[in-house]
Amino acid sequence: MILIDGKKTSTEIQEKLARETAEFSNSVGKPPHLAAILVGNSGPSETYVAAKMETCRKVGFKSSLIRFETDIKEEELLLEIDRLNADPDLHGFIVQLPLPNHISVEKVIERIDPRKDVDGFHPLNMGKMAKNQPSFASATPWGIMRLIEAYGIETAGKHVVILGRSQIVGLPLALLLSRNSNPGNATVTICHSRTQNLTEITRQADILIAAIGIPEFVKAEMVKPGAIVIDVGINRIPDESKKSGFRLIGDVDFQQVSPLCSAITPVPGGVGPMTIAALMENTLMAARQQSGLS
Ligand code: NDP
Repeated sequence: MILIDGKKTSTEIQEKLARETAEFSNSVGKPPHLAAILVGNSGPSETYVAAKMETCRKVGFKSSLIRFETDIKEEELLLEIDRLNADPDLHGFIVQLPLPNHISVEKVIERIDPRKDVDGFHPLNMGKMAKNQPSFASATPWGIMRLIEAYGIETAGKHVVILGRSQIVGLPLALLLSRNSNPGNATVTICHSRTQNLTEITRQADILIAAIGIPEFVKAEMVKPGAIVIDVGINRIPDESKKSGFRLIGDVDFQQVSPLCSAITPVPGGVGPMTIAALMENTLMAARQQSGLS
C-alpha cells in the first residue's frame, strides 16, 4: 500500500513556486499579492486562512488578511469585494467559506472579478474549466489533480467514484477527471445523499474519492480490493489528549480501508496541503496574467 503524501508533494510544488516567484518579482518589481477575507472567527476557518497566509510568506508572495465580524451586512461585504477587484496592487483574493447564513455565498462569489478569483469558484471559471479552457480551477479539485499527476496515477479509462457533489469539491472534480486531458479521461460517477445502493457503486471504483464531511463514512466493505482511495474529508473530533482538544480525521475509515487498497491519502497530510499549493499556483498565474507575462 502506498501512502500518498500530500504534504511532501505540496512542499515540492511550493519550492518550485518560490523560484518562479523570485523571477516574477525581479521582472515586475513587486511580488504576487493574495488577500483573504475572513468573516467571523470560527476555529477551522482561522486555521485554514492562517495556513494560506503562512504559505504566501514561504513562497515569497505578499499577503493581506481582511477580517470582518460575523454580523457584517451582505452589502458591506460586496462593497469590500468591489474594492479588492479594483485594487491594482492585488492579484487575487479569496473569501473563506463558510459565510454566516444571512450572506448569500452565490452573490459573493459572483461579485469577484473572475481574473482575481484564485479559488476558481466564479461561474465563468467553472464554465471555462468544464470546457477545458484556461481558467482558475477550483483549488481543492486542482490540488487533487496535481497529486494524481505527481504519483503517476493512471485515470484514463478508469472508473472514478466521487462521494459528494458540492460546488467546491465533488462537482468540479468530476469535470476535471472526465475531461479529455491527462490526468482525466476517467469514467466518473458522482454519488450524493440521494444515491441508492451506494456500496454497490463504490465497490466498482478503481479510484474512490470521498468528499462528504462525515467522519470515517467509507468502510472496508465499500472498497474494491486494490482500489486507490482519496480522502478529502476534514472532520474535527474531540480528543482530550491533544493540546487543541481535537484531532482531524477524514471521511474514510483509514484503519479498515488502508490495508485493502493500493494507495490512499492520509488525513491530515493528504489533500489538505495540496489545496493550498493549488491556490498558490492560481495566484502566481493571476499575477502573471495581470502583469502581461502570459
Ligand atoms: P458539502 O457539505 O458541501 O457537500 C457534501 C456532499 O456529500 C453533498 O453533495 C452531499 O449530498 C453528500 N453527502 C452527504 N451525506 C451523504 C451520504 N450519506 N451519502 C452520500 N453522499 C452524501 O461538503 P464539501 O464538499 O464542502 O466538503 C466535503 C468534505 O471535504 C468536508 O469534510 C470538508 O471539510 C472537506 N474539505 C476539505 C478540503 C481540503 O482542502 N482538504 C477543502 C474543502 C472541503 P447532497 O448534495 O445530496 O446534500
